[in-house]
Amino acid sequence: MNTTPTNTSATIIGAGQAGATLAIYLARQGFDVTIYESRPDLRRTDIDAGRSINLALATRGIVPLIDVGVIDHVDAITIPMRGRMVHTPGDPTPDLLPYGSKAHEVIHSVSRSDLNAILLDEAEATGLVTIEFECALDSVDFAASTLTFADGRSEPFDLLFGADGAGSRVRNALGAIGASTYETEWLDHDYKELTLSANPDGTHRIDPNALHIWPRGEFMLIALANPEGDFTVTFFAPKSTFAALSTPAEIDSFFADEFPEVTSLIPDVADQFASNPTGRLGTLWANGWSYDGRAVLVGDAAHAIVPFHGQGMNAALESVRALDRHMRASPDDLAAAFANYEAERKPDADAIAEMALDNYVEMRSGVVDPDYLTKRQLALDLEARHPNHISPRYNMVMFSTMPYAEAQRRAHEQAELISVAVHDPSYDIDTAVTALSPLPHLDPLADTTVLSVTSGVPT
Ligand SMILES: Cc1cc2nc3c(=O)[nH]c(=O)nc-3n(C[C@H](O)[C@H](O)[C@H](O)COP(=O)(O)OP(=O)(O)OC[C@H]3O[C@@H](n4cnc5c(N)ncnc54)[C@H](O)[C@@H]3O)c2cc1C
Repeated sequence: MNTTPTNTSATIIGAGQAGATLAIYLARQGFDVTIYESRPDLRRTDIDAGRSINLALATRGIVPLIDVGVIDHVDAITIPMRGRMVHTPGDPTPDLLPYGSKAHEVIHSVSRSDLNAILLDEAEATGLVTIEFECALDSVDFAASTLTFADGRSEPFDLLFGADGAGSRVRNALGAIGASTYETEWLDHDYKELTLSANPDGTHRIDPNALHIWPRGEFMLIALANPEGDFTVTFFAPKSTFAALSTPAEIDSFFADEFPEVTSLIPDVADQFASNPTGRLGTLWANGWSYDGRAVLVGDAAHAIVPFHGQGMNAALESVRALDRHMRASPDDLAAAFANYEAERKPDADAIAEMALDNYVEMRSGVVDPDYLTKRQLALDLEARHPNHISPRYNMVMFSTMPYAEAQRRAHEQAELISVAVHDPSYDIDTAVTALSPLPHLDPLADTTVLSVTSGVPT
């Protein structure tokens, strides 16, 4: 296969997970790459003001990290989570709902900035990638092939990659010339990140090897461990709940009533709540991800989703890998490569966007609903009996690389059979399940468990 590109210089806007990973792939294709990033270099500046913010990394994100050769470094900073630890009100012993029974069915808590630092180091180590920090793109002139930055500076480009996140300026520019149409569907719920600090000796105060959830119907708290012993805790709630929490007394009383054990673990919750920003949550529905073989969107810039399936970054990395594959397949016709990339990924992006919205309901109320628990257990039992024909939706999304749209289709099919079975004991569910088409094989890179899944905290 010819992998020598016609263009030799590539410009990426945004050095987040998508932009940094893409830079490595493009350098491997032979491009000279320049990344422009609006923020300072996170390897030299603490841009999160001392807070650790982490993400759940799963199979679809792990595969590209193997592919670009950073997985050993990533392994050193991740914490495996074997299931959801569900904290119900008044129950001092939370229940662990394991994600699955197979060795690779574990998700991994990883620091957003530490992962980014590994990717930026690897990109620079190719010798073909230059990163310019504190350079915020303002606008794109496609006719003149120039970029204008917030400080007024202007730079030419040959090939432009918009990896500049949900509020992408590159996408705005594509919209302005009619190449892209998009809208953001905002959720009526916001979020706020808090920190649950470590014990004085640096150990975790609750089990680090689980994703903790305090489901409360309309709102919820979740917590993911960091290697330093603290947890990133995220509060998700309707805007009306946030509006009612404006004084320290209101915040203290709300947390004492709703999450009493968390109050004792985060004694300064009112201070943190007042000083940490409130974030919005939305789904980006975008059509037209590229223009003229000269510009293309990737990651959140093309398909930002709500975080309830823990898949935004995983999907972004999977898209970067798909983009690399299509560019290598059509190096002399990048317009076709970009069109084929969008044709492959758009249905998957839409599917995970919908499944992420569904999962919010599952997390804040489903996990304590007896009907949900019965169905989930039946799905796991059926998977144990017919592993080639059925897998719970969560597992197809998190622990496989089957296209998201296929996972969504199969999940609907399976849910219908399971729904009949739980209401009709005479239904022959085993025969129905074995009539389903066999599950696709895992990506060869996803077949092995490459990240530590048994240890407690990385050293
Ligand atoms: C609360 C929350 C929890 C999440 N949890 C998870 C999770 O557990 N698992 C998961 O997989 N995903 C999760 N996500 C989603 C994940 O954060 C994103 O999908 C992922 O970061 C997207 O990566 P990206 O590189 O496309 O975009 P970003 O990470 O947004 O990177 C974009 C980069 O572009 C830069 N930039 C923006 N504008 C400009 C400009 N004009 N000029 C130059 N640079 C610019 C930004 O500074 C940034 O560095 C979560 C998201 C949220 C909000």
